[in-house]
Amino acid sequence: MGTAVEKDNMFSDSDEVLIGLEIHVQLTKLKTKLFCGCATDYRGKEPNTYVCPICLGLPGTLPVVNKKAIDFAIMVGLALECEIPLKTFFYRKNYYYPDMPKNYQISQYNKAGGVPIGLGGHVTIEINKQKKTINLTRIQLEEDPGRLTYLGSITSSDYTLVDYNRAGITLLEIVTEPDLRSPREARLFLQKLRSIIEHLGVADGSLEGSMRCDANISIRGGNRVEVKNISSFKAVQKALQFELIRQRRQKADGVKTVMETRHWDDEKGITISLRTKEEEHDYRYFPEPDLVPIEITPDWIEKIRNQMPELPDARRERFIRDYQIPPYDAGVLTSSKALADFFENCIKLYNHPKIISNWIMSDLLRHLNDLNIEINESTVTPEQFVNMLKYIDTGTISRRSAKKVLWDMIREGKPPEQIIQEDGHQRIGDENVIRQFVDEIFKEYPQAVQDAIKDDKAINFLSGQVMRKTRGTADPKITYQLIKEKIDLLRKKAN
Ligand code: ZN
Ligand code: MN
Repeated sequence: MGTAVEKDNMFSDSDEVLIGLEIHVQLTKLKTKLFCGCATDYRGKEPNTYVCPICLGLPGTLPVVNKKAIDFAIMVGLALECEIPLKTFFYRKNYYYPDMPKNYQISQYNKAGGVPIGLGGHVTIEINKQKKTINLTRIQLEEDPGRLTYLGSITSSDYTLVDYNRAGITLLEIVTEPDLRSPREARLFLQKLRSIIEHLGVADGSLEGSMRCDANISIRGGNRVEVKNISSFKAVQKALQFELIRQRRQKADGVKTVMETRHWDDEKGITISLRTKEEEHDYRYFPEPDLVPIEITPDWIEKIRNQMPELPDARRERFIRDYQIPPYDAGVLTSSKALADFFENCIKLYNHPKIISNWIMSDLLRHLNDLNIEINESTVTPEQFVNMLKYIDTGTISRRSAKKVLWDMIREGKPPEQIIQEDGHQRIGDENVIRQFVDEIFKEYPQAVQDAIKDDKAINFLSGQVMRKTRGTADPKITYQLIKEKIDLLRKKAN
C-alpha cells in the first residue's frame, strides 16, 4: 500500500503530506430549513427576518425533521457510494457560542451508538492522468449555525454582529479520510464533489457560503493543524500551500508544530492561530431527545436510486462517445454542471460539438479563469457563443477577430453582433479597400518588397503587415492575391 509513497520518498526528500477535508454543503435546493418551516432564500435579505421560535431555539419549541432533507442526503450518499444505515439518529453537539442560539447544534455522530446518514463512500479524481480514490469517513446531516459578521477581521474586531437567518439551514457534512497528498489534489477533489452534488440537483455551489471547507493538514509524524474559514476552492489550495510551507519550515528548524485550529486570512494569504484544538469530548455529544430515530427502508433507498440523475462520470463517458471529444476535454467539460450544461445547450443550437468544445477549452475557459469567474457568473449565453461561431462560418469575421470578439463578449457583457458593429471587426472582403492597405504597406516596407520580388516567401511578411494594419479583418486570401499580383507586375518591369 505504501509503495508509491516510499518510492516518492526515495527519489525526492519530500515529506509525506496528509490532508483530510471536512466540507459543509448547504442543501440549497430545499425550500425550508431542516427542523422548521422557515424559508431558505435568506441571501441578501434583512438580517434576522427568516426566523421562528424553533430555529431561534426558544424554550418549549420542538424540531420536526424535513423529510425532503433526508431524501436529498440519501441521494448524495448513494452517489458517493456510502453505506446507508437503515436507522439513523440525531445527536446534540454542545457548545456555547453566539452563532448557536440553543447552545447546541442538532447534528449526527458516528460514535457512542450514533449512526450518521451515510458511512464510508468515496470520490474518484483524476490526477496526472491517473485515477485516484479518495475515501470518505461519513456524511451527516446537521443544522447550519447563524452567521457572524466581524467588523474588519476576526482578530481585531471590537464587536460581532449575528444574523440567525442562516440558523437551521440544512447542512450535509462530508468528511474525508486523510487520503489527499497535495493541495492540488484537495482542489480537484472539491471540484469533483461539487460537480456530483450539482448534478444531483440538491445544491447550487455557486451561492455565497453554500460550500464551506475546513482542512486538516500534517506532515507524517507531526501534529495535525485544522484550518478554518476557507471560502473558495482556490482558497483551499492556497491555504494548504501556505500551511505546508509553514510546517515544513518548522520541521527544518526543529520546531514541533502545535496541534491547533488556525484561521485562513484570504486577504493577507496567511493562516493565523485561533485556539488550541478542542477535544471531541468537549462537545458532550448525546442523543437528541426531541427527535425519534429515522428508519430508512430498503424501498425508500431504491426509490431514490431510481430517481438519480446522470452523474459527472457517466456524463463524461457520454460526451466522449456521442460527441467524439478527447477524454481530457470531456473531463474538463463535466468538472462543473454549469459548464457541461453550457456545452450541451450550445450543441442544441449548433451541431458541431468539436468546434464548440475547442473554443470552450482554448479561449472561453482561459478568459473566465483570468477574470476569476465561472461560466454561470458570466453574461455569455449559449445563443451568443454560438452566434459568434456562426459569424466565422459565414465569413463575417475571421477566426482571429472572433477571438477578440469573444474576449469582449465576456468582459463587456455585450452580444457579438454589437461588438462586431461597434469595433469594426467585420471582415474586409472588398478588393478596393484591401488594395489601399496593400499600397500603403508597399510604401512603408520597400526592402521587404525587394525581397519579395526575389522570393515569394517574403510575401508572407507583407500580408502580415496588412493584417496588422486592419486588425486582422482583411480577408487573407484576397490580401495574398493582391500582393502577389503587384509583385509579379514589379518582376515583369524589372526584366
Ligand atoms: Zn425557523
Ligand atoms: Mn459540522
